[in-house]
Amino acid sequence: MPHCAIVGINWGDEGKGRMVDYFTEKFDIVVRYQGGGNAGHTVINEEGKFALHLLPSGIFRKGVVNILGNGVALDPENLWKEICDTRAQGVEITPDNFKISDRSSLLLPWHRELDELEEKRLANKKYGSTKQGIAPFYSDKYQKKTILAGELFYPDELIEHLKDLLEWKNLILTRVYGAKGYTLDELKAWIDNYCEKIKPFISNTGAILREADKTGRSILFEAQLGSLRDLDCGIYPYTTSSNTTAAFAPVGSGYGGAKIKDVVGVVKAYSTCVGEGPFVCEMFGEEAERLRTAGQEYGAKTGRPRRVGPLDIVATRYGIEVQAATEIALTKLDVLSYMDKIPVCTKYIVDGKETDEFPFPAALNRARPVIKYFEGWRKDISSVKTWEDLPIQAKEYVQFVEKETHCPITYVSVGPERDHLIVRK
Ligand code: GDP
Repeated sequence: MPHCAIVGINWGDEGKGRMVDYFTEKFDIVVRYQGGGNAGHTVINEEGKFALHLLPSGIFRKGVVNILGNGVALDPENLWKEICDTRAQGVEITPDNFKISDRSSLLLPWHRELDELEEKRLANKKYGSTKQGIAPFYSDKYQKKTILAGELFYPDELIEHLKDLLEWKNLILTRVYGAKGYTLDELKAWIDNYCEKIKPFISNTGAILREADKTGRSILFEAQLGSLRDLDCGIYPYTTSSNTTAAFAPVGSGYGGAKIKDVVGVVKAYSTCVGEGPFVCEMFGEEAERLRTAGQEYGAKTGRPRRVGPLDIVATRYGIEVQAATEIALTKLDVLSYMDKIPVCTKYIVDGKETDEFPFPAALNRARPVIKYFEGWRKDISSVKTWEDLPIQAKEYVQFVEKETHCPITYVSVGPERDHLIVRK
């Protein structure tokens, strides 16, 4: 099996988790290569319903090795909780089936606190952070002011490194934000309580991936969030602080030479967006509430109601291009079954002119959607197993999206469970 990446095409929450869960059957290794515990993948399978935040979605398959690459924000506290919760649901997690890169950086206790302090300072100009410390973490990583997970194996050097970071970070906490600083004893306790727990999982995962490739084992790269949240290509500054694009997978997994053949872009049959920022085709009022309820659109991590809207062809086409997606998995088509007429945003109007191009972030607030309506199918499609058995209106909807986005839709998901999937190839 050639290596493959599964990525989000829109604002995240497209249903990547269920697609990775489906794909893991065919792969030997699943790697998370960016992001942290700030979003969630929901996976439903024979073992139950799981909300994963940091654990790769291949954790449920026997024989699959799951890796957190160097590109992730490694939050020992939340990761340990997630391991305990997932184990309590009967899932085996051992150093054999779960590995953490020794080159991943630790999300330190002050990162979450800095997120809170900064959102408070921003008051009504806030970006809608999930307050999981992701932005402060990545800024510190790029300033080279974090601790690598592998440093836990070098306790003397680790303490010296922590002392240096502490001195610098306490200046920021106390002088910039007027908050309380940390003591070395507090950090040592945090290491004992959480980092020691995850230590057995830490190893040189870059070497494992290189060796796996040499011996013909297949790797699945799992992304968090979607194209429009990519730090470089997304709706900056309402992006996340890492690269959600497939191009980053080799870097963030620690295997720069990885050749990814297939990039499966996950697109939801309508749009959702969590938090602040421009969202051109947003629906409001009763229409929005109905779609939100039908799709159960509430954040996996925060429980926040997601903003909803019709499928946005302009944003989706752009998302596909920046991911260089080779095929599409269209999810949650069943959610639209209640609609008489299904709206789709086909173009934008910016400053009076129609456009197919996704605008520069600063111009997004001036964009207005052009909406086209499709006939609804008005029946439950969640038990449909083949393309032929889908109602004609549903087929027309899928084919329109395929034509407009110039990318084959090879999977159509009609429900959250493993077998609620129509394979078109
Ligand atoms: P991710 O972060 O991209 O994995 O997305 P989330 O897990 O946050 O959101 C996807 C949600 O939709 C989860 O609750 C899934 O169980 C559910 N889901 C995924 N595919 C389908 C589908 O085709 N139909 C329905 N009704 N639910 C789905």
